Amino acid sequence: MIRFVAPCLALLLASTPLAADEGVITGAPKVAVTLPKPTLALEGGKWFNGERFVEDSWYSVEGKLTRTRPARIDVRIDLQGRYVLPPLADAHNHNLQNAWSTATFADDYLRRGIFYSAQLAANTEEISGYRGLLGGPGWVDVLWAEATLSSSDGHPLGLALAGARQAGMPADPKDYIDKAFWAIDNLADLDSKWPKIAESQPKLIKVIVVDDAHAAAQRKDPSTYGFRGMSTALLPEVVKRAHAIGARVAAHVDSADDIARVVASGVDIVAHLNTRIPNGLTAGDLRLSDATIAEIKRRGTLIIPTVAVTRYYIKVHPEDRAALMTVIGDNLARLKAAEVSMLTGSDLFDGSVIDEIEAMYATKVFGADELLRLATKTTPQAMFPGRRIGIFAEGAETSLVAYDADPTRDLAVLRVPRFAIKQGEMLAR
Ligand SMILES: [Zn+2]
Repeated sequence: MIRFVAPCLALLLASTPLAADEGVITGAPKVAVTLPKPTLALEGGKWFNGERFVEDSWYSVEGKLTRTRPARIDVRIDLQGRYVLPPLADAHNHNLQNAWSTATFADDYLRRGIFYSAQLAANTEEISGYRGLLGGPGWVDVLWAEATLSSSDGHPLGLALAGARQAGMPADPKDYIDKAFWAIDNLADLDSKWPKIAESQPKLIKVIVVDDAHAAAQRKDPSTYGFRGMSTALLPEVVKRAHAIGARVAAHVDSADDIARVVASGVDIVAHLNTRIPNGLTAGDLRLSDATIAEIKRRGTLIIPTVAVTRYYIKVHPEDRAALMTVIGDNLARLKAAEVSMLTGSDLFDGSVIDEIEAMYATKVFGADELLRLATKTTPQAMFPGRRIGIFAEGAETSLVAYDADPTRDLAVLRVPRFAIKQGEMLAR
């Protein structure tokens, strides 16, 4: 039996005329009243079918696409020949991981036609205050990696300490270890901390690996404190435990050898390809071996290339631009030839997946149509595998973004979405 004990809630409900009849326990007011979604007729558009735009029309009933004309149409929308894409997805970002950044950036997602975002180094406590406010028709849908595992002297500790110092606050590692991220230096750490990690039932777990082949040398160099990573020897056990609770594992990596190790350990997602030339390594150390690519394909590991984020490294090391972009292009071309699944993710706090689409296009490995398929179909479907999104099909969610011109001819069109619907509701802000 359901009881309402909060007097303010009862008062509030008593004053509304919306208490309905069906499904209500006698004597109890109905808590939530949801307006029905409008039944839509979507006419006169050119719709992306994963390869090109074709003239088509759809109905939307209860937020789902259908070919069957409903008895009642609430709103008839003339798309006026516009180009209609499923919404974009950003599989790697960090700007919705605390309340301040969420208040600052969440609105930007929908305005840019990006309806899905993966936040790859969050923690449950930090996001608990606002996570329930995001998602659904009016808000970006977020997949958080809500447990981040690193070493006690590893990334992101260095960034956190630097940020604290910059803000004039005390920089104490204790404020971040096992709070902002989990410090896992050995199996005993994993044993003792795992129950707490598993408690929040994360859908995604992030592990930090930083040139693991040279971990011992890094630890002799104090300047790398806070920027190291966890041992890949621990990863098979992390992956086993994660999969047992239904969580996937994404790995931050730094070199081709790191990628070979995390893939062999069974991680589900490699969160980077090449973002920099690590200290002491050469561009050649970033080239994936054919054996690694074959193993990625065999296991179905997902790769997020994060090409756009190289801009931060190249700004400081312009002399490395040519070598870095050459090895990235070579890796991407061979991953594509092996038909490895790649996801679009920017890793740009102040940017978006549109920057990543442009950066991937600039490698000349992908056509604009292929990138739109990755960003609007492959990526959202990989992020939210239980949902019918990323496709215009019978029963799929009515989520779309319409543009004035054909983005396969000019990707800059993606910067100016004209009209959008999310889960059957028109966005108007
Ligand atoms: Zn990142």
